[in-house]
Amino acid sequence: MIYNIAIDGPAGAGKSTIAKRVAKEFSFIYVDTGAMYRAMAYYLLQQNVDGNDSQEIASKCEGADISIEYRNGEQIVLLNGENVNAYLRTEEVGNMASVSSANPSVRARLLDLQRSLAASQSVVMDGRDIGTTILPNAEVKIYLTASSATRARRRYKELIEKGEECNIEDIQKDIEERDQRDMNREISPLRQAEDAVLVDSSEMTIDEVVSAIENIFHEKTGK
Ligand code: C5P
Repeated sequence: MIYNIAIDGPAGAGKSTIAKRVAKEFSFIYVDTGAMYRAMAYYLLQQNVDGNDSQEIASKCEGADISIEYRNGEQIVLLNGENVNAYLRTEEVGNMASVSSANPSVRARLLDLQRSLAASQSVVMDGRDIGTTILPNAEVKIYLTASSATRARRRYKELIEKGEECNIEDIQKDIEERDQRDMNREISPLRQAEDAVLVDSSEMTIDEVVSAIENIFHEKTGK
């Protein structure tokens, strides 16, 4: 039996940390769809594409062939055959991903890849539209969120630990702008699927969120 767990939510809600942990607990594959949009954004930045020019994005995105491999359980994103994991987690790439992911041509290029990964194996897949569009029949759907102040604080801590200089007010502003774009775009906006369970992690530890999701899985599947 193949199980699909969909985890959607806004930037910085902790989706990838939580999804990785849940995947490990169940021995499922973790699929990070944000990294696919980031790889596309990285490609568009390399091509000097203007984020406001949707026609240029639509035509240039055709040149990006994105695929996924797993090495020691870690997802590797290949952009035209090259491992680009190391370049994806910057604010510049994240902001471009949030802009370019609103483009229908970009979304169409990634949809089949995401669906086929989930059709062949049990996955925990995180993103924005997994429960609503990509895997509408997922056995378990979670909408994971937290206040923008909490999300900014977590992101700030992460960047400081990496030795990067940053300002918490700017991070919160960036997060709120990204939420606005992700929630208000025409195609596949970020929203909670009707049958998704809302988990607000503002006052929860990682362990508490992981065990809440495990309990939801047991309730929904009887496993
Ligand atoms: O989750 P992450 O911050 O890596 O995603 C980067 C951007 O990619 C998001 O701001 C969002 O605009 C876009 N994205 C999306 N659909 C997904 C995953 C990510 O539109 N399934």
